[in-house]
Amino acid sequence: MLIDSPPPLVHDTLIIGGGPAGLTAAIYLRRFTRKVALFDRGHSRLSLIPVSHNYPGFPDGVRGTDLLTNLRAQFERYDGQVSHGEIARLRIEDGCFVGEYDGGEVRALTVLMATGIADTGLPIDDWREALACGAVRLCPVCDGYDVIDKRIAVVSSETNPIGHAMFMRTFSADVTLFDRSAGVILDEQERQQLGAAGVRYVSSMVREVTLSEAKTPVLHTADGRSHEFEVMYPMLGETARSDLAVQLGADTAGCGEIVVDQFQATRVPGLYAIGDVVAGLNQISVATGQAAVAATRIHNTLPWTLRQKD
Ligand SMILES: Cc1cc2nc3c(=O)[nH]c(=O)nc-3n(C[C@H](O)[C@H](O)[C@H](O)COP(=O)(O)OP(=O)(O)OC[C@H]3O[C@@H](n4cnc5c(N)ncnc54)[C@H](O)[C@@H]3O)c2cc1C
Repeated sequence: MLIDSPPPLVHDTLIIGGGPAGLTAAIYLRRFTRKVALFDRGHSRLSLIPVSHNYPGFPDGVRGTDLLTNLRAQFERYDGQVSHGEIARLRIEDGCFVGEYDGGEVRALTVLMATGIADTGLPIDDWREALACGAVRLCPVCDGYDVIDKRIAVVSSETNPIGHAMFMRTFSADVTLFDRSAGVILDEQERQQLGAAGVRYVSSMVREVTLSEAKTPVLHTADGRSHEFEVMYPMLGETARSDLAVQLGADTAGCGEIVVDQFQATRVPGLYAIGDVVAGLNQISVATGQAAVAATRIHNTLPWTLRQKD
């Protein structure tokens, strides 16, 4: 007897990435009664935040891991399920998006990229410990307030040689700028700007960073000297995880961030992007706000199911 195999399940939306952006969109879409598949390979940047003090609604701050756990629990409250794994490839077939993962494929009418960014490698071996204890920080917008009047080192790269050091002057009178890349040599105007703002400049390249016994960062420069600070910001850049969208024709800018319209839509019909992977400010509140916009847009553009009476 010939048995027909059932047609493959087509989700309304495949969400790629389970950080605050992806999980918030998933909560919205489930509450719109949409069929959602969410794949996450772990390591949301949220899990690196010891305590965030600028996310609204938490006067005493919130641990990144606690926020992540709560978002997952809220998604599960609406029968959502996080599939642990990576979407390795994305294609369009018969009017559907098809995401390939180790062990299978998932089909959806729309895709929401919430894949985040990869921070450029930090010049310190035990960087997780350094982030956890606040010796090394990655986000001046997030926690500049929390390091007021501390001795601060900023390590910059070619893309924004002096901007981050100048930004930190709002918070401390003791800011020193270091070069990481041998290619970064400040021009006369930049040196004058630093000097006028009272930012010290060490031109000898940073070779290595270690943690002192007191868990403070020590920067070792090529000239053999060591410089101890209370806090270091290695602003070395980032790469957006936008490859899957690029392969389908989405536009990118800057460090590979996906370009979207006011509804978070890319120029590929049905393909949306939210959170850090999108060009803009990398913040949790931005990620969750974009998620709300995209999820509502997706719901309003897909066909609606008319609810039947019992
Ligand atoms: C140390 C640190 C401190 C910070 N402090 C603050 C703060 O105080 N306040 C604030 O607002 N922001 C802060 N941020 C920034 C904040 O963490 C990010 O803006 C936020 O996490 C972005 O959310 P997202 O969902 O876009 O990306 P992420 O949280 O990075 O999540 C992306 C997820 O997608 C997954 N993924 C990627 N590719 C795939 C794939 N192909 N298949 C499946 N899964 C995939 C990743 O593994 C990851 O789990 C901080 C960041 C860092 C690193």
